[in-house]
Amino acid sequence: MLAPLLATAAALTLFLAGPAAPQTAKSKGYRTTPVGYSDTPVLPGSRWRVHDIARPHPRAITPGTESTQDRPGQPPSDASVLFDGRDLSGWMARGGGGDRGKTGPARWKIENGYMEVVPGSGTIFSKEKFGDCQLHIEWAAPTELAGASQWRANSGVLLMERYEIQVLDSYENPTYADGQAASIYGQYPPLVNASRKPGQWQSYDIVFEAPRFEGDKLVKPAFATVFHNGVVVHHRQQIVGRMAHRVVGTYAPHGPEEPLGLQDHDVPLRYRNIWVRRLKGYDEP
Ligand code: MG
Repeated sequence: MLAPLLATAAALTLFLAGPAAPQTAKSKGYRTTPVGYSDTPVLPGSRWRVHDIARPHPRAITPGTESTQDRPGQPPSDASVLFDGRDLSGWMARGGGGDRGKTGPARWKIENGYMEVVPGSGTIFSKEKFGDCQLHIEWAAPTELAGASQWRANSGVLLMERYEIQVLDSYENPTYADGQAASIYGQYPPLVNASRKPGQWQSYDIVFEAPRFEGDKLVKPAFATVFHNGVVVHHRQQIVGRMAHRVVGTYAPHGPEEPLGLQDHDVPLRYRNIWVRRLKGYDEP
């Protein structure tokens, strides 16, 4: 009996009081702080004050999700997705067979959400070009072991077509240290060997700073920070020059943005979940 009466009384009170005033953090009794200041010192080398009220805010994005062995994760909302498991429309081939240097459609195999190198069909390149970027890529070596050292499931992530983060089955497969998985090929071994067994999906997360040229002159070399399966293996490592075998790679001028390449090294290695985010200042358009 009492409950319906109380409910009616509550409804009547609400009706008589009219719409409630909007509640703010302050009216709720929460502690607050100003959302910025204009009387604080200017940061050294900056045009912004400490806690500057006029300083623009970073764009909000939706972060991605982690991959599992069974399924790839979701890229962040502001990433350029270069391969989502469906097709090679974002890629083209160059080289392969007797046609090295010739450009054509990418002819790697698509299957079950991954792409697989078709040996001899050529290294593939993204149609989109990148300079400074964050790159995520996953790969898996074949379980059938067909060779050793550099012939054990070799491929490569070619930043700007020419700076190679080595892809190799380095699980119990000795090779020269600067040529194992996650090495900057021919230059720097990874800090540790974080390789998984062949057949398992592995990830590279790369923060790459493109080199800068003024005319023919190199004014700033490239740098790479690399995580292999979540483990840091290069910490802003300066890159010596382009990928080279048995010689020291050097720099030659190129554009501020160039395609991403994936190497055909005659082994049916697989890739999935490839995305890139261009790196720029948070307040740059
Ligand atoms: Mg390679």
